[in-house]
Amino acid sequence: MANPGSSRSIAEVVANDLCIGCGLCEAVTGGRVTMTMTDAGSLRPSPVVAIAGQEDRVLAAACPGVVAPVRVDGDEPAPLIDPVWGAHRSMVMAWAGDQEVRFKAATGGVLTALGRHLLAVGEVAFVLHVGADPDAPSRSRWVMSESIDDVLANTGSRYGPTAPLAGLGAALDRSEPFALIAKPCDLGAVHALATTDPRVDELCRYRLAMVCGGQSRLTKTLGVLDGFGLTEDDVTLMRYRGHGNPGPTRVESRSGGAHELTYLDMWADESSWDLETRCKLCPDALGECADVAAADAWPGGAPTGEDEGFNATIVRTRVGEQLVAAAAAAGRLVVGEPVTAHQLDDFQPHQVRKKVALAARYRGMIDAGVPPIHAPDLRLDELGARLDADAQAAQRAGTLRRFQVIAGRP
Ligand SMILES: Cc1cc2nc3c(=O)[nH]c(=O)nc-3n(C[C@H](O)[C@H](O)[C@H](O)COP(=O)(O)OP(=O)(O)OC[C@H]3O[C@@H](n4cnc5c(N)ncnc54)[C@H](O)[C@@H]3O)c2cc1C
Ligand code: SF4
Ligand code: SF4
Repeated sequence: MANPGSSRSIAEVVANDLCIGCGLCEAVTGGRVTMTMTDAGSLRPSPVVAIAGQEDRVLAAACPGVVAPVRVDGDEPAPLIDPVWGAHRSMVMAWAGDQEVRFKAATGGVLTALGRHLLAVGEVAFVLHVGADPDAPSRSRWVMSESIDDVLANTGSRYGPTAPLAGLGAALDRSEPFALIAKPCDLGAVHALATTDPRVDELCRYRLAMVCGGQSRLTKTLGVLDGFGLTEDDVTLMRYRGHGNPGPTRVESRSGGAHELTYLDMWADESSWDLETRCKLCPDALGECADVAAADAWPGGAPTGEDEGFNATIVRTRVGEQLVAAAAAAGRLVVGEPVTAHQLDDFQPHQVRKKVALAARYRGMIDAGVPPIHAPDLRLDELGARLDADAQAAQRAGTLRRFQVIAGRP
């Protein structure tokens, strides 16, 4: 099926609230359009009317609000394919070999360890990823880490709005090999862009993803600050997790005070997550365009306390397989027991629930006159058949209502 980008516009994506704020619009327009925080707490390209013509076509063909590709290497033997978890060459438990990395990172430090390994052996000149904005620590910004210390300084999960691909133009303009650590939707956009920009596959040599439950709007962060009696201007440090697994959400303020929330207090009430619309419709939150994807590994899907940090790690491509083997041989990564798809289903029940609901949600989008995300290779119809008729009807109706609200219709 043809990529529908040719018949969509970025303005339409933004109007339908299907933009995730990845930042590709800023990169492709050379910064003429910038990622700007909206009153609703989302990063959106602005001014969107400045995206037109060929730029609009290039962007719409890669935009996560329009398409979600998969990226499977053609090497023999072909990878195994699980209907939920996608193509993989192996799935293992892993963690960083360096204790400081493992402690400070979001989970077990696999992504940080792999990025550091690539820099240490000179495979890449820098790692494009994200970290806290030094000028506004409760927000996040893209960063090109050029040393292993830089990668560690930007370890950990940033749950609020981030636009890693706003840095993609600058990264490609350096004409040096680099690694990208980002969310699955960001990596999908990069893979799709490769069809129009040959520099992507030439230079973006390694693609690492976190498995992703969804990006909160800034309102979630502001709500946490408000609960501590703080505003953004008071904040000197905002860490969502890490320094343990999962570690606390920690805020430090100019007055010298420090405030913490446990992971469960932070995320127990789902109605407070303020997730982006695109996340509720995300056909690939599992990193099917990555060489390696790293996830949490809590049986039942939630932590019952602190542990040393273990990543369920999905090695998808031959490049990823070689990277994991080399990092392990160098002692930067420790590889533990194999993990089965069944275990991953148990670690990530919310991901399985979303995957099986998506076919029905996409029918609700069509009911609302909104084009669904084009994801023909993500097995959504096969997975959707697992849902009974009543649940499908409820998912479909709920999605129709959501888009009626977005369109301002009753
Ligand atoms: C929004 C969000 C939702 C998540 N939901 C889930 C989930 O449902 N299930 C699950 O298993 N794991 C989820 N995680 C991932 C989890 O928190 C860990 O990131 C993952 O297990 C990798 O652990 P690590 O120790 O290897 O990461 P680290 O070694 O700490 O490395 C994390 C890397 O990711 C980059 N990064 C952090 N935040 C972002 C961001 N918002 N966008 C792009 N790049 C970023 C950092 O720059 C860093 O390089 C989520 C993460 C985020 C940011
Ligand atoms: S390409 Fe990225 S920033 Fe641009 S509209 Fe799509 S999701 Fe938003
Ligand atoms: S849930 Fe999907 S759309 Fe949302 S941030 Fe994660 S990968 Fe992107």
